[in-house]
Amino acid sequence: MSELHSKTLAELSGLLADGETSSVELTRTLLERVGARDAELNSFITVTPERALAQAEAADARRKRGDAGPLTGLPLVHKDIFCTRGVKTSCGSRMLDNFVAPYDATVVQRLDAAGMVMLGKSNMDEFAMGSSNETSWYGPVRNPWDTARVPGGSSGGSVAAVAASFAPAATGTDTGGSIRQPAAFTNLTGLKPTYGRVSRYGMIAFASSLDQAGTITRTAEDAAMMLGAMAGFDDADSTSVDREVPVYRATLNRDLKGLKVGVPVEFFDEGLDSKVADAVQAALDVYRSLGCEVVKVSLPNLMLSVPTYYVIAPAECASNLSRFDGARFGYRCENPRDLTDMYERSRGDGFGDEVKRRIMTGTYVLSAGYYDAYYLKAQKTRHLIAADFAKAFEEVDLLMGPTTPTPAFKLGEKTDDPITMYLNDIYVNGVNLAGLPGLSIPMGFIDGLPVGFQIIGNHFQEALMLNAAHRYQCETDWHTRTPEGFK
Ligand code: GLN
Repeated sequence: MSELHSKTLAELSGLLADGETSSVELTRTLLERVGARDAELNSFITVTPERALAQAEAADARRKRGDAGPLTGLPLVHKDIFCTRGVKTSCGSRMLDNFVAPYDATVVQRLDAAGMVMLGKSNMDEFAMGSSNETSWYGPVRNPWDTARVPGGSSGGSVAAVAASFAPAATGTDTGGSIRQPAAFTNLTGLKPTYGRVSRYGMIAFASSLDQAGTITRTAEDAAMMLGAMAGFDDADSTSVDREVPVYRATLNRDLKGLKVGVPVEFFDEGLDSKVADAVQAALDVYRSLGCEVVKVSLPNLMLSVPTYYVIAPAECASNLSRFDGARFGYRCENPRDLTDMYERSRGDGFGDEVKRRIMTGTYVLSAGYYDAYYLKAQKTRHLIAADFAKAFEEVDLLMGPTTPTPAFKLGEKTDDPITMYLNDIYVNGVNLAGLPGLSIPMGFIDGLPVGFQIIGNHFQEALMLNAAHRYQCETDWHTRTPEGFK
């Protein structure tokens, strides 16, 4: 039997229910591990031991009273983009280094109500802008599979913490791949739900038409457990959808016979590492053996998704981040001469280079004279990309392919060239533009580094995606592997 720290949520839930361990014991074990090893990875911005132990005690008391649910007493880490009352919520930025949130995000509130225990807040790319977790004001996060490499971004701290067995699960956000890409780089299961499935209330906004909260876990079963508690309508978020939340865990074992899987030919372009392509074929064979029919489909406008995303996301971020002006939240420069000086220096010092690059790009594409050429054009291509997906889903039940073109790259390898960095998102950000759910699961290793298999569903098809992922995880053991240095 593996040790407590490397167990899944489902396993731990069983142990707690059987009285084999307590939430306090589990929480102590994990906090000790974080204290002993996180300096090597930098996956946490804030560790909250007192709060964690108080929550663990409350969870154990709740269990004694007989009203524990499946998640009660299970530890997790929240990405530092979610507001947590009384706890620093930095969003990876110097701008919010002194910000203590006065309220909890809906996601935090709901997981709290389910009895989950927050160990702390995870490191992330500044304002969730990045694909490598190198833009954080708190320094880069390292990949536990190879500490010379990035864990992916922007939810890099969340994945590193779970991959290193500091926590069995974490929350993440995915605006353009930030759950799926880092999950792929660290051998984890990362689920980005349909836009509107999970409330964005209290999640610091990057690009509001794309942002969505999701889960980072070892298995699809664990993702099902967490999503069930997080999802659902919230009248504090007007884009959350009022639609019943299925019991995702109940349909994980459904037979996949006759399921039609589409493989977009555009995913197999020259940028795709041939070994990643081979791993995708092997994963598709598993689905064939489970009785799925695998067919080719085409998403002809998919290759426009990176340029489209990198116009729309910066445009929305330029607007969202205008609230950080030194007057209302966060960092204010010393001794401003006048109002303009305060704005300029607070924003100049408070934001890092990548955030500034996005604000400038966004302001440019929204400005009179360029709006039609860039922003409006990007909205039109966004529509074409969404229409391609809609057409594909008339033919097939799920789409499958790679999550990333390559395994994790080295720290510093792409920092001087933003375009190369952005191209790492090639297979993930079309899904956000179309508002679809996407899932990445472990599908093998290339030279010791994990690679991810992506499953894309039609809107609100999370139950089917989790079912497909779970059945794959019953046939394979990639997801059970943990990094040698963090056993
Ligand atoms: N890599 C993408 C970006 O930098 C994704 C970010 C995200 O999903 N939060 O914008």
